[in-house]
Amino acid sequence: MHCGKPLEDETEEYCSDCRKRKSYITQGKALWLHRDPVPAAVYRFKYKNRRSYGKVFAREMMEQYEKQIGRWRVREIIPVPLHRSKRRERGYNQAEILAEEIGALTGIPVRKDVLFRIRKTVPQKKLDTEGRKKNLQGAFAVSGKWRPVKNVLLVDDIYTTGSTVEHAAKVLRKAGAENVYFLTISIGQGI
Ligand SMILES: [Zn+2]
Repeated sequence: MHCGKPLEDETEEYCSDCRKRKSYITQGKALWLHRDPVPAAVYRFKYKNRRSYGKVFAREMMEQYEKQIGRWRVREIIPVPLHRSKRRERGYNQAEILAEEIGALTGIPVRKDVLFRIRKTVPQKKLDTEGRKKNLQGAFAVSGKWRPVKNVLLVDDIYTTGSTVEHAAKVLRKAGAENVYFLTISIGQGI
């Protein structure tokens, strides 16, 4: 299945969000569905300085998906970046913590100098579909110094409609990556 959202009809490849757009993702997986008690734990990891949760999440992810990552032949792990002002405000980027823990468990290099958020955006959950699209336009950029690798793994905390991951994947593909995969802690349910 394309983005990993559970669907009513399991023979379907695409959820309703993925069907509506051209996808730049080859495939992706999430650890858990975004339902209790997952959202509270992700919230604390993201906003309440529970950086240590990163290790726990990464371990669980690798228990479930280490073989999958092997099959994807991932060469570099890239965390979904925050805008530098937001990162400064929060003190850390939860996706970076997660990526580093996964990197430590797999031995795959983690690159924090490749993908950047060059435009400040508002949280996607506050916007409707149209607003979400515009919000992320031009939000990401890839460093001109990056020498593209064939298979890249994007890491983020939550996959909701997938707009964030898709926009990040788009610039990585344009920069020369052939396959962009993703892993997240949680994912919304498909309809
Ligand atoms: Zn989907």
